[in-house]
Amino acid sequence: MRGPPDTSLRRQQAGPPDAPAPPASTDVAIIGGGVIGLMTGWRLLRAGLRVALFERGTVGQGASLAATGMLAAAAEFEPGGEEHVALALESQRLWPGFAAELSADGGLDIDYRRDGILLVATTRDEVARLRFRQEMQRQAGLVTEWLDGAACRGFEPGLRPSVVAGIHCPGDHQVDPAKVIAALRQAFIERGGILLEGSAATPWLQAGRAVGVTTKQGPVKATIIVAAGGAWTEITGLSLPLRPLKGQSLALACPPDRPLLSRMVWTDQVHLAPKSDGTLIVGATMEECGFDDAVTAGGVYALLEGARRILPGIEDLPIAAIWSGFRPTSADDAPILGATRIPGLLLATGHHRNGYLLAPVTAEAITQLITEGGIKGPAASFGPERFSAQEAVA
Ligand SMILES: Cc1cc2nc3c(=O)[nH]c(=O)nc-3n(C[C@H](O)[C@H](O)[C@H](O)COP(=O)(O)OP(=O)(O)OC[C@H]3O[C@@H](n4cnc5c(N)ncnc54)[C@H](O)[C@@H]3O)c2cc1C
Repeated sequence: MRGPPDTSLRRQQAGPPDAPAPPASTDVAIIGGGVIGLMTGWRLLRAGLRVALFERGTVGQGASLAATGMLAAAAEFEPGGEEHVALALESQRLWPGFAAELSADGGLDIDYRRDGILLVATTRDEVARLRFRQEMQRQAGLVTEWLDGAACRGFEPGLRPSVVAGIHCPGDHQVDPAKVIAALRQAFIERGGILLEGSAATPWLQAGRAVGVTTKQGPVKATIIVAAGGAWTEITGLSLPLRPLKGQSLALACPPDRPLLSRMVWTDQVHLAPKSDGTLIVGATMEECGFDDAVTAGGVYALLEGARRILPGIEDLPIAAIWSGFRPTSADDAPILGATRIPGLLLATGHHRNGYLLAPVTAEAITQLITEGGIKGPAASFGPERFSAQEAVA
């Protein structure tokens, strides 16, 4: 008899191996081993710095292994997000180079797929919302294509006849989060990074400046500390405008040689993302409930009902895994990147629904800030100081 679906994070990594001893000192100490901490650490190593990364559990165990892996600047463009779209497009531009360098450094594939996303509608209201979305995309300079129902089924023959319209976003790509985390972990170690899993860390403050981190294995001096703890990022004395935003997702097991979809499909309710190993990820709910990680009947029902409404073929697929995770979401849904008012302490968090999309631009920005003293380009608009009127961040 088949067992119940795995309700832990999808294809979670093995537990921490024998951890290396913490160094006495390092150039940069990173707190948090999600996609943001790992990507940033790996780029800092490539820039020639000594980096130690502290993860309290195993890498990816926060939001990063719960993600779908969409790199969806166009599909997820929201009203009022013009600065955000510039940041997202810059990161999309960086992704192909990062993917190639990551595979070269760590030797692991990340299933980087450039098939695009199809946004689809089945009702008159959904068509109206898609029209509005495409107009926003056009005004932001994004290149997308309007499709009728037959053209949607031309792209994806498994879609229901009730799909009446769609938008094709060819620039939106995807990666497999489990593979990205494994590849980043490997590349970080290959580049000489010191990875300390099972090691919770706290910024070590002396006379008002950050001088390293404290851990249960002892203190580690560092010139710069990057706080990248996702939704759990906490700094004594700073009030961060950050909260967890829960998402539930599930994975269906499709035979790899007979995938139901050849590209990602997205509706108002769900997104469906086929991976090259046959997994079809159905995500994701958006729930304001603190750190309550329960996988609920309502959440799973919403996902399956939303998927079945457009793709009837899912009914026969086994459920391989169900999980939840916490997006790190800031007060304006945009990342918080840069220096705090505590000298030596930087923030790289708040990536909300787009941590994978925005990981390259984040890693570049933090590397620039540390090596050149400032952030150039679209990431410069996302410093903590934008919250300083309400919050004591910068
Ligand atoms: C269901 C779901 C679907 C998503 N889909 C997508 C998607 O398709 N595309 C996309 O771009 N984004 C997606 N996201 C968002 C994305 O997952 C996040 O934005 C991203 O993973 C955040 O990465 P992070 O490294 O900042 O945080 P996390 O991955 O949460 O990592 C933070 C890490 O810090 C560690 N930590 C915390 N405090 C400490 C401490 N004191 N000491 C040591 N370690 C500590 C935690 O254990 C954790 O491992 C999705 C998120 C969810 C929940």
